[in-house]
Amino acid sequence: MNRTRVSILVGMIAILAVVIFLASSGGLPGSSFQYDPSKAVHGQLSGVKALAHVQALVDFGPRPSGSEANIRQQDYIIAELKKLGWTTRRDAFTDKTTRGPIEFANLHARLGEGDSAFSRTAEVLVCSHFDTKYMPGITFVGANDGGSSTGLLIEMARVLAANPDLAERIELVFFDGEEAITSFQVEGLHGSKYLAKKLRALPEGDRPPYAVVFDLIGDKNLNVGIPSNTDLEMSNAVLEAAEELGTRKHFSVLHTEIIDDHQPLHEIGMRVTNLIDMDYKPYWHTSADTMDRITAESIEISGRTGLLFLEKYLLGGRR
Ligand SMILES: [Zn+2]
Repeated sequence: MNRTRVSILVGMIAILAVVIFLASSGGLPGSSFQYDPSKAVHGQLSGVKALAHVQALVDFGPRPSGSEANIRQQDYIIAELKKLGWTTRRDAFTDKTTRGPIEFANLHARLGEGDSAFSRTAEVLVCSHFDTKYMPGITFVGANDGGSSTGLLIEMARVLAANPDLAERIELVFFDGEEAITSFQVEGLHGSKYLAKKLRALPEGDRPPYAVVFDLIGDKNLNVGIPSNTDLEMSNAVLEAAEELGTRKHFSVLHTEIIDDHQPLHEIGMRVTNLIDMDYKPYWHTSADTMDRITAESIEISGRTGLLFLEKYLLGGRR
């Protein structure tokens, strides 16, 4: 082995060591984002502002997929995001349900104007569903289920716009058709399954590697339980972010699986986590899922913890 070969070998070992270090440090491979506390946005998230969006959504009444109220709600989300500097793409599709074929639409939003806002693949999808469960005979407005997380994402768009370097790595995804008319064995997760199928067909480099799903995050008595069918490293990092913010008592990692919009993305190999509070059970899928059950404070706790996780632990690579 001559001297050139030895130095090439030494160089390769050094590169390998760096790669192993990066892989083990919890950082996002390929992400050049650096968390800078002076530019941190999580502390700016307002539960009061998010709650005002939830009220506007609830005022449309029950919003099952395919209904006029559901379409009007989509227009509201798109218009609010536009005011905040985000461009939304509406991705409509028809899917079979036990009530026959229904037209659904997912909304995808990126910071910036026009098609150029979508020119770069996002590193993380931040998701919520906006449809409410079809419940004939019941006025089901989904203040917490569908409403709280959707209001939160609109408010996140506002605070993320203050740090474009962070925001350009994030795509907000509003899923339609999360709810099953009958059961998840038969239907439901229409929007996330549709997106997963599209993403699976893309070359790996064109797919966002991460997703965070928020659902039912506004209950007065907030108990976010991250299900076991998520990426454990990501879910533990959410707990670290909560510890740092003093919100740890509201978060736990469960030993049970939950079927939600993260599942189809998990199944195609994306790294996912799911912030969901299933302790809402007494009011869940009842006419009592109303504005008086949710608080600005709970949405703020969920949102600030989620944003710190995103900007520092996931994209910022700090552990
Ligand atoms: Zn539901």
